Amino acid sequence: MDAPREAPQTQHLLDLAFGLSQAGQLGLCGPATPLSVWGPGCSGALLHKTTDASLVPVIVPTLAKARLGVAGMTVAPVAPKAWIRPPGSSDEEYAEDRPGKPCPACGTGHIASPWHILNVCEHAKVAAARAELRENADAFVRRLALLCADAARAGHPLYLLETEAASALVQQAVFDWNSPSGDFLLFRLCLVLPFPASVVPPNERCDDNITWLLGRVFNTVFVRPHAMRFTANAWVRWGGKSYLAIAKVWADAVDDALSSA
Ligand SMILES: [Zn+2]
Repeated sequence: MDAPREAPQTQHLLDLAFGLSQAGQLGLCGPATPLSVWGPGCSGALLHKTTDASLVPVIVPTLAKARLGVAGMTVAPVAPKAWIRPPGSSDEEYAEDRPGKPCPACGTGHIASPWHILNVCEHAKVAAARAELRENADAFVRRLALLCADAARAGHPLYLLETEAASALVQQAVFDWNSPSGDFLLFRLCLVLPFPASVVPPNERCDDNITWLLGRVFNTVFVRPHAMRFTANAWVRWGGKSYLAIAKVWADAVDDALSSA
């Protein structure tokens, strides 16, 4: 029981002084969860790993509110002006917003939410903004795969091979953004939410499905938080600005529809 562990003295020192565990004892990836896991404190919680101060005032809070779903649709900067409650509103008034409101821009009766804006709303200006966003996303997703492969070089070489292979396939894929996988990916990209490959049903897994390929990239990136900072900054910047741009088009369309009603 008191026998020393099979490791060099420096490893014991690092273990006792800094809690750095021996790789062989905790599995190959002991120090980190994969990037596909984004729970509190996990690798995929990228909003908290941003170190770019210019993102803090607007972009990070916008993404945090977008993740609230319908509950985030009545607060600035994404809310239509007509939906923002004045300061001093009562708890009861705020409670009325909680179930969500039907989208006045398209008039389809769908409840307004980030998903509705990004993938569903049929208002002409929002649809045009979506077409542009899909083009930008098609370019960004390839850059993101390369950034993840760069970050993965700080991790274990066994997994790096899989990350690089999946990242290379992303570069060549011809992806249909107008598909369930495309809707899912656009939403996750804009809100900066990594995901595992298993979200894609088996019958849709192919080398042209970027959602499937990117999930494989996320599954195999196991690195300490500092190695993810550059990727986190780039992704949060792209996601936040992209979401803000289309959400502003949608909010203006809502205000126009409400003022002309
Ligand atoms: Zn709509």
